[in-house]
Amino acid sequence: MDSLVASALDTVRRRIAKAARAAGRDPSDITLTAVSKQQPEPAIQAVLNAGQRVFGENRVQEAQGRWTERRAALPGLHLRLIGPLQSNKADQALALFDVIETLDRDKLARALAEAGMKAGVRPRVLIQLNTGEEPQKAGVIPTEADTFIARVRAEYDFDLQGLMCIPPLEEEPAMHFALLARIAARNGLEALSMGMSGDYETAVRFGATHVRVGSALFGARSGG
Ligand SMILES: *Cc1c(COP(=O)(O)O)cnc(C)c1O
Repeated sequence: MDSLVASALDTVRRRIAKAARAAGRDPSDITLTAVSKQQPEPAIQAVLNAGQRVFGENRVQEAQGRWTERRAALPGLHLRLIGPLQSNKADQALALFDVIETLDRDKLARALAEAGMKAGVRPRVLIQLNTGEEPQKAGVIPTEADTFIARVRAEYDFDLQGLMCIPPLEEEPAMHFALLARIAARNGLEALSMGMSGDYETAVRFGATHVRVGSALFGARSGG
């Protein structure tokens, strides 16, 4: 297990670096987030053993089970919430995650602000955009992005770092990555969380600073 996972990790890292250099970018400007949702313990432990420290999860409760104890033992661990967050879980999310990538509505912003005040931390967030305007998907639609970003900046004391998107499955991701990059640039936002197992190299080409890779590292997920 360890050597299989270590070699997958090495491959993904090398492909990120190659895509970065081809785009005239510094590979160290791109963070690999290992998406550990629904993955078996031995695989996660193997990725940790191989030195990976940045992980993404899409459910608060599942992540608590997996990371709460490890967190204490691993000071360099960095956890990112990449799935939808209910406002009533804002406290729990802030307690566990270093960055929340899925801020997409006022109600959640208010809940995170209150949770931050209570905990004495300044929430670090990305705003999720629904670049494909898919009804079933979370995220702010592109035409409302500038207004939402401005409102979050005006009303909340967040460390607003950037934008995140999940392009529609059946569409060419490049145009979505380009759109996300454009909206971030005109709003002075640096972090771009985009690209998954199937398209992270394309995302790097379009300026991704954070790629979220699950199955290409761990193998197919067990369910859901
Ligand atoms: C599951 C998930 C990923 C990882 O997907 P893979 O295709 O397995 O790399 C990335 N981002 C989000 C938001 C996810 O939910």
